[in-house]
Amino acid sequence: MDLELKPEELVFQKEVRDWFETVLPEGHDMKGKTLITQTKEETSWWQSQLHEKGWGAVGWPLEDGGTTWSDPQKAIFQAEAARAQSPHQSPFGITMVGPVICAFGSPELKAQHLPSILDGSINWCQGYSEPGSGSDLASLRTTAERDGDDYVVNGQKIWTTLAHWAEWIFCLVRTSNEGKPQQGISFLLIDMNSPGIEVKPIYTIDGAHHLNEVYFTDVRVPASNLVGEENEGWTYAKFLLGNERAGIAGTGMIRNGLENLKNVHDYLNETAAESYQADAFERRHAELSVRAAALETLENRALFAEEGSGEGLILPLPMKALGTELQQDMGDLAYDMLGNESSIFYDSEFAPTASDNEPNYRSQAPMMTHTMLFNRASTIFGGTTEVQKGIISKFVLGL
Ligand SMILES: Cc1cc2nc3c(=O)[nH]c(=O)nc-3n(C[C@H](O)[C@H](O)[C@H](O)COP(=O)(O)OP(=O)(O)OC[C@H]3O[C@@H](n4cnc5c(N)ncnc54)[C@H](O)[C@@H]3O)c2cc1C
Repeated sequence: MDLELKPEELVFQKEVRDWFETVLPEGHDMKGKTLITQTKEETSWWQSQLHEKGWGAVGWPLEDGGTTWSDPQKAIFQAEAARAQSPHQSPFGITMVGPVICAFGSPELKAQHLPSILDGSINWCQGYSEPGSGSDLASLRTTAERDGDDYVVNGQKIWTTLAHWAEWIFCLVRTSNEGKPQQGISFLLIDMNSPGIEVKPIYTIDGAHHLNEVYFTDVRVPASNLVGEENEGWTYAKFLLGNERAGIAGTGMIRNGLENLKNVHDYLNETAAESYQADAFERRHAELSVRAAALETLENRALFAEEGSGEGLILPLPMKALGTELQQDMGDLAYDMLGNESSIFYDSEFAPTASDNEPNYRSQAPMMTHTMLFNRASTIFGGTTEVQKGIISKFVLGL
């Protein structure tokens, strides 16, 4: 779906493009970075830059610090961010818990949390999954028992991305065993500095520490940290998952990745003794580009979905499945091209950075290797591909 821009949208596009060129000039070492190759400080820095400009949370309501942008403006912003090889905002605050607090949180919770999410000073993590409760999330067993003005939380979360950075965690907890499992779940905000919380690292195949186990032992949480109503957490959890899935599809990352693949191929052609065949590269790159264009069409459909049509809720499912498979196939092409060179490019130190006199590919290639390895997980987190397809077949195709 091509976006035909109206004159005022072209003006807006120029404003956005100029801003990206000012904060991320050519050669800036944050270009092309992603959440898993950025440091905590870099992620906070990028959020603060966007916030200063008033673009920290474009999808939030205006009164909570968002924008009044139209759908075409949001699409232009995303396209320009991708064009500028913009680094990533942390999704946990901006895309996940922030919109939940905006929609369902008390005025006190909004005043307490939204400003520090917007300016990037506080980091969040997501406490949904537990051992034995991933796809079957509603079976979760971490309990929160009411005791006076507090809840007392006991249990364990797992695969908690960047919990070791986070000052706060949003958790699904069990507050009742009555009725269906979904009916006894609540959505609780917990300060990671509370006594009784222990964070243990899990190392992934890229050699880095992104993931954790989080243990809760008699953790006292003020009851005022409950979002919305007790036992209504499943509703808020599903609202959040729709936003999460659309984000994981990663169209911006895919556009950057397709460009990076070309850079690496050009470099190898010039330098490597045995370069990856040009015609094979062109064929595979073209096939990936066609799939990326199809994904963009879905993204635009979701963005421009008519209110009440249900498309905005349904489309993130195929977007997540298609986008993550595409990311993995792009990684495979990078690896096939790099061959032995990938070990030269692979820097086991987390978050490699470019120096000024290095050509672009050198900063991109180690990141590509990290990303390629980490992306094995992208068809798992945020709901596995099998589960997405199951939901599509049941609720969309009626099978
Ligand atoms: C890198 C990474 C980061 C993550 N970050 C977070 C995070 O920050 N916070 C968080 O809460 N969680 C996080 N997760 C957890 C993630 O959400 C779960 O891994 C995911 O939901 C799958 O759950 P599971 O691992 O328990 O696998 P299981 O649910 O046990 O699934 C195992 C296999 O069975 C298949 N399967 C299960 N049920 C069905 C079904 N009904 N139909 C067909 N096939 C099925 C699955 O597709 C999968 O192949 C992360 C996971 C990874 C890998």
